[in-house]
Amino acid sequence: MKIIVASSNKGKIKEIKNILKNYEIIPYTDIITPFEIEENGNSFKENAVIKAKAIYEKLPGNIVLADDSGISVPVLGNEPGIYSARYAGENATDKDNLFKLINELKKRNIKKTPAFYTAAIALATPYGIFTAHGFMRGNVIDEARGDKGFGYDPMFIPNGFDKTLGELDEEIKHKISHRFKALKLAELILETLK
Ligand code: IMP
Repeated sequence: MKIIVASSNKGKIKEIKNILKNYEIIPYTDIITPFEIEENGNSFKENAVIKAKAIYEKLPGNIVLADDSGISVPVLGNEPGIYSARYAGENATDKDNLFKLINELKKRNIKKTPAFYTAAIALATPYGIFTAHGFMRGNVIDEARGDKGFGYDPMFIPNGFDKTLGELDEEIKHKISHRFKALKLAELILETLK
């Protein structure tokens, strides 16, 4: 079965291919010219659905998979949440966002506090829209450690570990990640469509 992914991010495509091994994974940019999609939803789920629907409208009859993800810190009112990719501003880099969050902790003299990653997956299909979620819980610290992973990984220590995702092997992260869990659920949904 062919799945069109609403992303051209190489890391995400690789992760999706690794998990959905029995499917043919095709980035939408291999088929149509990339276009801007306004992610103006109020939740990870809404934004994933917006992306999946936007691509499905251009490629009706296919199965389109979109994801939306981010990190939430309860002591900061669940910030940055759905704004994770643009926490330090519209054109912010991953590093800008990471250090903005570190600074928010430092301002409050917080060395370590609970946090969680969320991933929402939306599947737009000829049979309707389906969604799945996955979470990874842990703590964020007020410094960056290690250079593995991406985004907020150097400041995030997953539960059950004493190192950040910047220090842990990527293979470990991929087995416990929010995206892994959400994609596993999405795989179950895909099986029901066969
Ligand atoms: P998306 O591409 O719109 O889903 O943006 C997700 C944003 O959330 C990224 O830019 C990262 O800042 C953050 N994020 C999501 N998942 C992860 C992860 O696994 N590690 C680190 N940061 C992540």
